[in-house]
Amino acid sequence: MSAPLPEDARGEPKLSLVVPICNEQEVLPLLVERLRGVMDGCAAGCEAILVNDGSVDGSWGLIAAATRVDPRFKALDFSRNFGHPAAITAGLDHASGDAIVVMDADLQDPPELVPKMVALYREGWDVVHARRSARQGETAFKKLTAEGFYKVMGLLADRPPTPNVGEFRLISRAVVDALGGMRERHRLVRGLVSWLGFRQTTLDFERPGRAAGETKFPFRRMFRLSWDALTAFSVAPLRLALVLGVLALLLAIPASAALLLVALAGDAGAWGWPALLCGQMLLAGATLVCLGLLGDYVGRIYDEVRGRPLYVVRQRLGLAAPARR
Ligand code: UDP
Ligand code: MG
Repeated sequence: MSAPLPEDARGEPKLSLVVPICNEQEVLPLLVERLRGVMDGCAAGCEAILVNDGSVDGSWGLIAAATRVDPRFKALDFSRNFGHPAAITAGLDHASGDAIVVMDADLQDPPELVPKMVALYREGWDVVHARRSARQGETAFKKLTAEGFYKVMGLLADRPPTPNVGEFRLISRAVVDALGGMRERHRLVRGLVSWLGFRQTTLDFERPGRAAGETKFPFRRMFRLSWDALTAFSVAPLRLALVLGVLALLLAIPASAALLLVALAGDAGAWGWPALLCGQMLLAGATLVCLGLLGDYVGRIYDEVRGRPLYVVRQRLGLAAPARR
């Protein structure tokens, strides 16, 4: 995408920092300190929205204490765990800044990168993705599966998300407003942002390891998230039935012709029951796989039709409920 023109340059934005938090009591005191450092450097004002996504440790107590000491800290407390994308969405719904930066709580997304993102925003970019040029403290398995995920998405998704980019990014008010209208349930925020367009750029950084605590995304959860992402942005799996059906026909037509010839030559029982059984199992297996995939998509449609809220807020500190949602 082409670079913005000089006349698109903007003034210093009012900044909102959105941080999803789930069981991060070990890292919270450090996070609050580092966020305060960034907020002190903001010329046009800054707020930090800490979203407590159903923590069962002491996180909420620490968050509430931060809001009492410094009113620039604001907080949302969910009624239970709704997941990382819902927590980000809630933060965006409540943010009032001209530019909003989403970052993880564990300091793997260094807050000190924010001024560089703001500089790019001021040049006229609407989305600044922080791209991981290196990842410290992550297992070879996690790196490999992440690479595989971006390859598959690149092949199958309508508009694949930018590779090696998590949820650490700056987005302009215009993009946040557009995102606000996208209330789909199985959401990958980075995918929605890529889909939206606008002027997007990347900023490379070396991703440090977690400052404290443990990852909340073991393989099982990562797999679910990846599957959600794939089905949210691609219907390619549904087409599997068509591909398998065509393959089966391509095999079945010459095989039937051959069988007919053999039968005409006088040996009707030539292929016998093993051939029948194999063909039967192959087709039954393929049919069940396709039915399963169909069921998965239908289940997602059901989820959407019920229209339940993406998250439920138990308490707001320093924030009013947003008008629309
Ligand atoms: N998180 C969340 N809800 C969840 C799981 C995680 O809000 O259900 C937050 C978590 O507190 C952190 C961010 O999402 O701020 C990323 O989680 P984590 O660092 O564990 O993921 P990883 O970096 O290991 O992929
Ligand atoms: Mg992390």
